[in-house]
Amino acid sequence: VKPPGPKSSELLKAQKELETESVVYPKVFQFAIDSAKGATIKDVDGNYYIDWVAGIAVMNVGHSNPYVISAIKSQLEKYNHWMSEIPSEVRIEFLKKLHSILPMKAKVITTVTGADACETAVAMARWVTKRQNIIVFDGAYHGVHQGIVNATAKRELQLYSGMPYIGFIRFPYPYPYRCPFKVKDDEECGQIILDLIDRMLGDPYSGIGEVAGILVEPIQGEGGYIVPPKNFLRGLREIADKYGLLLIIDEVQSGVGRTGRWWGFEHFNVIPDIICISKAIGGGIPISFVAYKREFDDGLPEMFHLGTYRANPLGLAAGKAVIEYIESRNLLDRALKMGEYVKSRFEEMKEKYEIIGDVRGIGFMIGVEIVEDKRSKKPSVKLANKIRKEMFERGLLMHTCGHYGNVLRFMAPLVISERHINIGLDIFEEVVKSLT
Ligand code: PMP
Repeated sequence: VKPPGPKSSELLKAQKELETESVVYPKVFQFAIDSAKGATIKDVDGNYYIDWVAGIAVMNVGHSNPYVISAIKSQLEKYNHWMSEIPSEVRIEFLKKLHSILPMKAKVITTVTGADACETAVAMARWVTKRQNIIVFDGAYHGVHQGIVNATAKRELQLYSGMPYIGFIRFPYPYPYRCPFKVKDDEECGQIILDLIDRMLGDPYSGIGEVAGILVEPIQGEGGYIVPPKNFLRGLREIADKYGLLLIIDEVQSGVGRTGRWWGFEHFNVIPDIICISKAIGGGIPISFVAYKREFDDGLPEMFHLGTYRANPLGLAAGKAVIEYIESRNLLDRALKMGEYVKSRFEEMKEKYEIIGDVRGIGFMIGVEIVEDKRSKKPSVKLANKIRKEMFERGLLMHTCGHYGNVLRFMAPLVISERHINIGLDIFEEVVKSLT
């Protein structure tokens, strides 16, 4: 039936009665979920959808992955919560597995959400350097807890949740399609920003204050699936080294295989000082982590970070299974290869349709920017929302992001079948064609 079907409508109505008006997704995707498997979602009216959202880049190994479910089930039969720091087999096995995919000799702090991990990462940079300020970027998203929401670039999110705090200094993120400078190529755009940061840090009269670290997404997520030019992260690494500040890379959305490598920064040949990890690592169970260079652990005070629900054992069991599953099915290579294919299909569409301004991405993190026309590049959130709605009605779930909300993002589970990729691409093209 055309969504929302009768059962979905009933549940949506009940939700409206019981829950806050401020929810977003039920207004965008008007259905109620019955169950999910692999890269498909079934609604309560019996409709099936192809899922290119993956619970916002969480279900990398697919919904109801049998290997992950069996790991969660066997842990559930043992215990599912106790004091969060006491060791258990599942904890140690998970930690060994996590360490095996980290690029540096690391230590790990357990946290619960992406925002929790980012806040703890900032605290760590401050503790290590004994300085206060953090460099962040426009288009950034690091969560909405009252501290870290100040690092997130959305002003409307800060208005009522942000505590007054001025320790985040914002610079432009290199956005090749919309570089604010008149330059010939993308690297030049990145270089200007790097020079600016360098200049501000080096100038005793810049007013930038004492900077502890740089917090950056290796590929911007909520900001619009923006891939920075090759030189950018390396440049940030050099600046961090030059001024003795820490490079914190937020892998909450880009990590755990999404870009065809374990971590997004691997595409840019840099090693961070601190990594924020969440979303896909728990296979749907809320867990997150901060991984940091081992030497920062010297003298780190007890109770540096706390939280009752950290390191949920079901999440740890799931996390170990997620990493093993990605390894055993070679999903990193698959995401790279299939991601290239998906991107090439979107690029072909870009040549044909005036409203596709830009296509970019790595692995299964691909953004398609919708504009009024190629010449003006004027962002069209109206068209993007219309495409999203019509695709939804035809059975394809694809969500938006971006500075202007006009970027459609491909973030399917890495296990999605070629058939579901192709059907989705055909639906995407039919809808775009009908609107051009
Ligand atoms: N960092 C990034 C890069 C994210 O994409 C997100 C969530 N979209 C967060 C942090 C915050 O994670 P959470 O919603 O779990 O707090």
